[in-house]
Amino acid sequence: MSRVYNFSAGPAVLPEEVLKEAAEEMLDYKGCGMSVMEMSHRSKVYDNIIKEAEADLRELMNIPDNYYVLFLQGGASQQFSAIPMNLMRNKKAGYIITGQWAKKAAAEAKKYGEVIELASSADKNFSYIPDCSDLPITDDMDYVYICENNTIYGTKYKELPNTKGVDLVADVSSCFLSEPVDVSKYALIYGGVQKNVGPAGVVVVIIRKDLVKDDVMPFTPTMLKYKTQADNDSLYNTPPCYNIYICGKVFKWLKKLGGLEKMKELNEEKAKILYDFLDESEMFKGTVEKEDRSLMNVPFVTGDKDLDAKFVKEAAEAGFVNLKGHRTVGGMRASIYNAMPKEGVVKLVEFMREFEKNNK
Ligand code: PMP
Repeated sequence: MSRVYNFSAGPAVLPEEVLKEAAEEMLDYKGCGMSVMEMSHRSKVYDNIIKEAEADLRELMNIPDNYYVLFLQGGASQQFSAIPMNLMRNKKAGYIITGQWAKKAAAEAKKYGEVIELASSADKNFSYIPDCSDLPITDDMDYVYICENNTIYGTKYKELPNTKGVDLVADVSSCFLSEPVDVSKYALIYGGVQKNVGPAGVVVVIIRKDLVKDDVMPFTPTMLKYKTQADNDSLYNTPPCYNIYICGKVFKWLKKLGGLEKMKELNEEKAKILYDFLDESEMFKGTVEKEDRSLMNVPFVTGDKDLDAKFVKEAAEAGFVNLKGHRTVGGMRASIYNAMPKEGVVKLVEFMREFEKNNK
């Protein structure tokens, strides 16, 4: 067996320990004589799996009792419409545009109500997080929306916006469980799991209970109504059973490692290795304002397209794969999620150093 260092932005690297455990349980889950893939979502065994996953996530994130945890489908993108359909009661919301994903969410919300663009970093190709200390937020807004970590551009809010008392909604797809969060500061947090948590096909929504009502836009599909999902403990219909089971294993892995405080420490250590190198290198440069740098997605360029392509190719040959940057930024991007071992980043930097020396 030979595993590569996978720097994909998502679907992304998962903890090897989790994959091995899943492999061991593939044919016979704990004496059931069947795989989790094969069992009814209404069985007692599966009920324990999903309940345990929720309990472990609640413990990890210290989720207060007045929040629901929902395991849903449709990816993060489905939430771009579910959020306004469920929450836009005044038909008005503020969006902060820090990249493609926030932009797409805002475009979808416009179908359902008025969207006020509160701030944007489009002027510099989303390479920074705008000042959010005094935004034109008004009381009649149903929520303020952010994309907390911008996967494509490698920026992250280091401080949440001052929402002036308006509910905050955050897409945390690419920074989910990478550091502790104070859930009580948000009305709704959601993330596709395919970066830091598990296999694609699940989106976790953590929503304050008072927001979950029958009073949603009349055309809201039953499946997209949070109340349907909350009333049925995420089991209104057949959930992505196997994927939730893997997420549950990742939650246990995180707990065993020491929880989110420890994850933050490890992630800071890993990111520093790469950013320190980018700051000292004469060939490779980071593309983001230093104070807004993400711990998860690290874009960088050489400034020469051919050299970028040569680097990506040679890196892949050496076992460092999926380093090609998003087409809108170009260059390279190393996604160094929770499951990327420190060794992977250390070796990548060694490779970059060597490449720089050989291509002067
Ligand atoms: N939000 C962010 C921050 C993302 O990175 C992505 C996917 N890369 C999405 C939303 C869209 O996720 P999905 O493909 O699950 O709809």
